[in-house]
Amino acid sequence: MIVKLAIDVPIFQLFDYFWNQEELLRDPRIGDIVRVEFRSKITSGIVLQINSKSSCVNDQERNLKSVLAIAPDLKVTQQIINLCQFSSKYYLRPIGEVLFGSIPSDWKKPNKWELLQKQKQKEEKKQKAPKSEEKPLLWELNEEQVSSLAYLKEVSNQNEFELILLKGITGSGKTAVYLSWLKEVLKDDEAQCLILVPEINLTPQLEKIVKEVFVDEEVTVLHSDITSAQRNIAWWKIQNGTSRVILGTRLSIFAPAKNIKAIVIDEEHDNSYKQQDGLRYNARDLAIWRASELKIPIVLTSATPSCETWHKVLHKKISLLALSRKAKEGASFSNLNLIDFGRARKNKKINEYGLSTEIHEVISRTRENNKQTLIYINRRGYAPILYCKTCSWKSSCKKCSAWMVVHKKIGSNRKVMQCHHCGSSQFTPISCPECGNQDLETLGVGTQKIEEYLKETYPEIDLIRIDSDSTKTKGSAEELFKKIHIGEPAIIIGTQMIIKGHDFQHIQSIIVIDVDKSLYSQDFRAVEKIFSQLVQVAGRAGRGKNAEGANIYIQTEFVDHPMFKALAEHKYDQFISDIVQERREYQLPPYSHQALIIAESKSEKINNEMLYQLKLYLEHELPKNIQISDPTPRVLQRLSGVERNQILIETNDRVKLQNILEKALDYIEVIKKKSRSIKLQIDRDPIQF
Ligand code: ADP
Ligand code: ZN
Ligand code: ZN
Repeated sequence: MIVKLAIDVPIFQLFDYFWNQEELLRDPRIGDIVRVEFRSKITSGIVLQINSKSSCVNDQERNLKSVLAIAPDLKVTQQIINLCQFSSKYYLRPIGEVLFGSIPSDWKKPNKWELLQKQKQKEEKKQKAPKSEEKPLLWELNEEQVSSLAYLKEVSNQNEFELILLKGITGSGKTAVYLSWLKEVLKDDEAQCLILVPEINLTPQLEKIVKEVFVDEEVTVLHSDITSAQRNIAWWKIQNGTSRVILGTRLSIFAPAKNIKAIVIDEEHDNSYKQQDGLRYNARDLAIWRASELKIPIVLTSATPSCETWHKVLHKKISLLALSRKAKEGASFSNLNLIDFGRARKNKKINEYGLSTEIHEVISRTRENNKQTLIYINRRGYAPILYCKTCSWKSSCKKCSAWMVVHKKIGSNRKVMQCHHCGSSQFTPISCPECGNQDLETLGVGTQKIEEYLKETYPEIDLIRIDSDSTKTKGSAEELFKKIHIGEPAIIIGTQMIIKGHDFQHIQSIIVIDVDKSLYSQDFRAVEKIFSQLVQVAGRAGRGKNAEGANIYIQTEFVDHPMFKALAEHKYDQFISDIVQERREYQLPPYSHQALIIAESKSEKINNEMLYQLKLYLEHELPKNIQISDPTPRVLQRLSGVERNQILIETNDRVKLQNILEKALDYIEVIKKKSRSIKLQIDRDPIQF
């Protein structure tokens, strides 16, 4: 027999191998993982097709190598093969790369197979904990939650695909609803369920709750930080059904559960569901595809749904469940207060850190009330730029078209400059590299600078800074969050890390600085993004008992922006509907479908020439209603010394887009064979430009 194998190489083809039944002791099966020699190296392949010998040309046959061994106990399920085949076609990546990206990396190393078996046997020997007594759920659901749950139960009984949006303000108890639902679903002893969350730092809290709700279940938690041994065991438990609850970040959409009966995508609007390199998939979209294949319900949750999802609501392609009240007694909305930056500046009420007098009053007042203040700035480090006043030199990165960010270094008086894109870093120069001026200044503020300033100004108040620098060491994030939860008066300074999922009880005032650049950004999704961040940030206050009187203060130059009105009046739906309407007028997604073709090389000129050629090629017999832009630089044009340019393809017809991208791919494959100095990649449904 001849088998066609997927192999982990960036080539769009399967590879033929002989299958010798006598040596291998059985027939091949689709999904078998096998050991083969490929380009003089030992590697793994996955059986995707089985052909009888007769269908092969004899001459070719003689040159074929044989499959050397079958991996014991490892197999890629048909469901996962289907999902990978769809992803491969839709995102235009080779099937081998997609399949091998979806399984634990140890599976593809034949020399690890023995270890894998040992891990499995060890795990099998472990005794299962006895079932604990049936406990009631953690919550007594309110009326809205009960009726949402009732709907979900009803849907589950129908064994059909249904797309549902569970929309509710932060703290309205969406988690409680979907976990109650999943608990019902798992009453079927064979059933499994999948919960996708945007980021790892969201998982610890949710993980705890999920494990509490499912005390008797093996809850598998998947994210990029687990060890390969953990991943191996997880895959095995998911595949054989031992683990019935899977909680993880985007990659978990490839979890090989055989009997998923429900999928939840928490915070569906979050951009981290989209992978930004290699297979540039969107896990939310793949989840919807998988649910429709499996004929099961899928629930998306959000306080601020994405335009894509809200568009489906407006067109009745998704069932809407809404929670409009805070779940906890006493919890309330926080009041929105705008601080008019322009006016404050005119009245000289802004200090050199960009903080207005009013902000200081808020901090003092909150301290007097023995409560916590949260300052949200989504910029880590000390300051975004180092600057020479004499000659205007700025700290640009040599390898990227970006500024190097100034950071304070623990245990050193000297600061460092770090590029957040390529990672290169160095000590800040003592004098200006251009003119020798010794008086270099920092421009703008980051979390560290604000922290330093507040420490001096309010020596008596505790400061807690939470960003990816202050939480690098293992356990430090938990420590800091614990400190906040204890509830002593404090000023908390945090980036996006702080706004997700946490149920803080003692924050009374929230201060947001630095939103303005998002309001008038080139990125058409920027407003939607900042809106959702602000809703989430606002949701961090007013959570505890007697939370009445929580306030959010936003310092902005644009006090009349409609977004603030929507925030103040809690008219989220209307605001998102307005954005959707705007997208319609400009024929932007979801009213059009987009794809980028990105060229990367050492030279912008080479990129543009190549992209022009490609454009010309695609425009030959171009169907109607497809637009192809001229080459433009990417927003971050140079990254790690590589120039990046792109063309944008837009159409309102998905099929036409697929066709033209396949045509582009053929061209790209030809180029790939001819030239190694330029890399062309397709990004379908892009969110970064
Ligand atoms: P969301 O996911 O909508 O932001 P959560 O599910 O995190 O909201 O709920 C917010 C808080 O309210 C949590 O502390 C949760 O335990 C609590 N909660 C949820 N439902 C109820 C309920 N019915 N009664 C009391 N508290 C609840
Ligand atoms: Zn200078
Ligand atoms: Zn850089």
